[in-house]
Amino acid sequence: MSHHPYISVVIPVHNEQEVLEELYSRLTQALDKLGKSYEIILTNDGSTDRSSEILQELHKRRPDQIRVVEFNGNFGQHMAIMAGFERVRGQIIITMDADLQNPPEEIGKLVEAMERGHDVVNTYRQNRQDSWWRLQVSKWHNRIRAWMMPKLKMKDEGCMLRAYSRSIVDLMASTGESATFIPALALTYAANPTEVGVAHAERQAGTSSYNLYGLIRYNFDLVTGFSVFPLQVFTMIGLLISLCSFAFVVFLILRRLIHGPEVEGVFTLFAIMFFLCGIVLFGLGIVGEYVGRIYQEVRKRPRFVVKHVLEKPLVEEVTNTFQDARSN
Ligand code: UDP
Ligand code: MG
Repeated sequence: MSHHPYISVVIPVHNEQEVLEELYSRLTQALDKLGKSYEIILTNDGSTDRSSEILQELHKRRPDQIRVVEFNGNFGQHMAIMAGFERVRGQIIITMDADLQNPPEEIGKLVEAMERGHDVVNTYRQNRQDSWWRLQVSKWHNRIRAWMMPKLKMKDEGCMLRAYSRSIVDLMASTGESATFIPALALTYAANPTEVGVAHAERQAGTSSYNLYGLIRYNFDLVTGFSVFPLQVFTMIGLLISLCSFAFVVFLILRRLIHGPEVEGVFTLFAIMFFLCGIVLFGLGIVGEYVGRIYQEVRKRPRFVVKHVLEKPLVEEVTNTFQDARSN
């Protein structure tokens, strides 16, 4: 039987067979060193390698501390974290990646910041170790996000090593939102967030699950999930362009009246037409993003499906069942 731990670490796992063993040893070592009670919830997000078996084996090694949630398929990193959030038993919740790019040795720093009274501790990666194009994408992404969503105060939103208070996690878990971006969601609920710098390492083994397309999708999700800025910008651009085109039509009519008809301007007109078509298509795309999002929300499909959970029940859960059985 388990007791309520102080710290819950939530980790999504997708095809990480090469790193799990090292993750286990470094993470438990770092947490043991803190001298506080803890649990580690690992969600296997539909891995197709040996991750599932390794997780089972880790659970057997420390059944009191290691809990495994097994998904029925691949539902994405953020849903894997959500599934962990729904089950946490601790007071301070830490999220991190399985691939050891966020050193578990930094968890102490986060716990310290939480104990100073913050309810969300975000991190930024010091000397980030990623490929050149990933760094560029991130840099621009962070800039554009800061400009579009100034309320989301985050230096670096790609780093998943973060800490949340239990109340924030419960809020996030209870909204049932399918927003794919947990740190942004947490910040919208936070009263006293802060940021600390953490070390960043290269991926130990395996490959990143995100390709360029994945990153672009992810950004669209983030922006459309947390702001209507693109819609507003679009309305403004549409307005501006309609005004300009109107002025242009007036100009053409006057020109025709003064100079008479002409054919030479046909190509200019084509160019303008193409430009307008482009804007219209882009606008439709943006509207589509939002409609898609509404569709996702109203469908009310389960966000993820859990196959089984490996964990020990809490002491009080066991006592309650015992009492229920007696009163029946
Ligand atoms: N992950 C997941 N489901 C996915 C993709 C990734 O649970 O569909 C996990 C993965 O195992 C890792 C974390 O999410 O623990 C971050 O993934 P990755 O390292 O591939 O992303 P990157 O660090 O390149 O952003
Ligand atoms: Mg990674």
